[in-house]
Amino acid sequence: VAEFGTPDRKVVTTCAYCGVGCSFEAEMRGDRVVRMTPWKHGAANRGHSCVKGRFAWGYAGHKDRILEPMIRERTSDPWRIVSWEEAIRHAATRLRDIQGRHGIRAIGGITSSRCTNEETFLVQKMIRAVFGNNNTDTCARVCHSPTGYGLKTTFGTSAGTQDFDSVEAVDVAVVIGANPTDGHPVFASRLKKRLRAGAKLIVIDPRRIDLVRSAHVEAAHHLPLRPGTNVAVVTSMAHVIVTEGLCDEAFIRERCDWDEFQDYAAFVSEDRHSPEATEALTGVPAADLRAAARLYATGGNGAIYYGLGVTEHSQGSTTVMGIANLAMLTGNIGRPGVGVNPLRGQNNVQGSCDMGSFPHELPGYRHVSDDGAREVFEKLWGRQLEREPGLRIPNMLDAAVDGTFKGIYIQGEDILQSDPDTRHVAAGLAAMDCVIVQDLFLNETANHAHVFLPGSTFLEKDGTFTNAERRINRVREVMKPRNGYADWEVTQLLANAMGAGWAYTHPSQIMAEIAATTPSFAGVSYDLLDRLGSVQWPCNEDHPAGSPIMHVDGFVRGRGKLVVTEYVATDEKTGPRFPLLLTTGRILSQYNVGAQTRRTANSLWHEEDRLEIHPQDAETRGVTEGDWVRLASRAGETSLRATITDRVMPGVVYTTFHHPDTQANVVTTDHSDWATNCPEYKVTAVQVALSNGP
Ligand code: SF4
Repeated sequence: VAEFGTPDRKVVTTCAYCGVGCSFEAEMRGDRVVRMTPWKHGAANRGHSCVKGRFAWGYAGHKDRILEPMIRERTSDPWRIVSWEEAIRHAATRLRDIQGRHGIRAIGGITSSRCTNEETFLVQKMIRAVFGNNNTDTCARVCHSPTGYGLKTTFGTSAGTQDFDSVEAVDVAVVIGANPTDGHPVFASRLKKRLRAGAKLIVIDPRRIDLVRSAHVEAAHHLPLRPGTNVAVVTSMAHVIVTEGLCDEAFIRERCDWDEFQDYAAFVSEDRHSPEATEALTGVPAADLRAAARLYATGGNGAIYYGLGVTEHSQGSTTVMGIANLAMLTGNIGRPGVGVNPLRGQNNVQGSCDMGSFPHELPGYRHVSDDGAREVFEKLWGRQLEREPGLRIPNMLDAAVDGTFKGIYIQGEDILQSDPDTRHVAAGLAAMDCVIVQDLFLNETANHAHVFLPGSTFLEKDGTFTNAERRINRVREVMKPRNGYADWEVTQLLANAMGAGWAYTHPSQIMAEIAATTPSFAGVSYDLLDRLGSVQWPCNEDHPAGSPIMHVDGFVRGRGKLVVTEYVATDEKTGPRFPLLLTTGRILSQYNVGAQTRRTANSLWHEEDRLEIHPQDAETRGVTEGDWVRLASRAGETSLRATITDRVMPGVVYTTFHHPDTQANVVTTDHSDWATNCPEYKVTAVQVALSNGP
């Protein structure tokens, strides 16, 4: 305020960082943000925020923003600043030229979970209706794609079952593979409040996260499992519930497929799934696992909250289905205080999946082979759509290395830093004839780009984000795009340069198209959102004010499906050369690869990426606090400093991936989830040795 003066107007908008989706008032003076204050009427945050959101506006005005388009023939050439017209014409010509030489499937694109629903809808529309193929994917590929697969298979739709308000009615909270204190701070505060009021907590995590023991909060059980053994732990919990007669049989008979339940019950009842039999594999003491399973099944309303520690594994989808199994076994679905709650990392992971960004699904999770669903879009878009799924991100990179995939449009995503096995990503990008990057800053991926299109921040556009509880929140323009165009307008320019003939003049028209084509959004409009503040999908004739809780009277798929969850060990093995297991996570003040948070005032609180190592493992390597160490895997190596702590167990090391200097994903491997290709970021066999620094 001292710098910019007293605000003269306020605009309510939504935080562009994590999946909590906090509402803020941007307090403005002219075209400048004076401060951001959490909005007390925001349904997701009720007047609270975390340090990231409060300072988020800082990066919009940062000097590193690239505000003019740039092109170059080869990536070894210097960038040349050009007009928007020339940049778009250049990009469109190169993409069409590639299609002429290599076929229509030789190009594709990646949407961003940072962008609005309207923007991601337009990108997948451009790829399907203008490029003419299904080579569209989203950065949700590398985080919650197993949630999509697992919850769709078991419940019938790819979304969390509850609203955040449900936490007020929780008796037993199970937190698996998530660290809400750092990743979803405002939700963590609500959870802690409930725990202080007497709810019980079970934490299943290799690391002793803050929730295990923090101010006035202590978990009833912490199951410190060995990274990569989630399926074994979840299946063993089901073993206890089934063999000790703790199932909610009435719920299962009424709501689930009984024959499938019997197959599943026979499977989990096998002795090999008992806590005693799995202890050596998982590292979880049998008595603790048994007690935790009993508490979840008998302690009243049981709610499961999970994060990327569940999904980013070779069996990520299997674990998601195992979690859904636990909820169905115990009848913990369809009312306040229960359910299965994926905590989404980015602001619009839910929305980017809802909007048809995956190569196999049209908006609303309808498979591209669904003739009826395709017809809806074909009529509206005036062209036949492909019925075969397109390429996922890793397949695009593989195909690029093989020479069959030649051009890509990447909106709001730094895949070189965020995706696993950096060397392979770089090789794929380097093999393409046309890489178009649309972003705020010249990111690492842009080093391999031929066209750079400046992106706009969340403060510079209208639209909507959908948070982790399916809540559609309005994003409102508080200042004109500094780069000249909002991201949705840039996509429209490119699509039109390739012959589309689109004429959207405001994102509300795109939302109208979403509502007209996507049943779960049928009743959504900007008028409704302005009137109600926000709304949770499904929002349609049956639920005109939205649906805070799903599967109340029946599952979306009809009967709930209990799926046999066989544990299969990851191919990523420790051995004499790589004896430790690396797992990764986030810290409170930083967001993903740090492109935005490193350029805001909250970086004052930020530390570098550090490697957490147990005292025993540090001692055997002669490592002391703060020493530089070399972290190496079969994929690559990096250097960072050590923090010696018993937050990690012996044999396990941990780091964050926020800094480009560290590039932690240099060491992560190409293993991925069997169903979705979500990378196995959470399990990498590594060696750690003292070093002299980078
Ligand atoms: Fe809220 Fe998440 Fe933004 Fe923090 S980062 S203010 S918890 S939405």
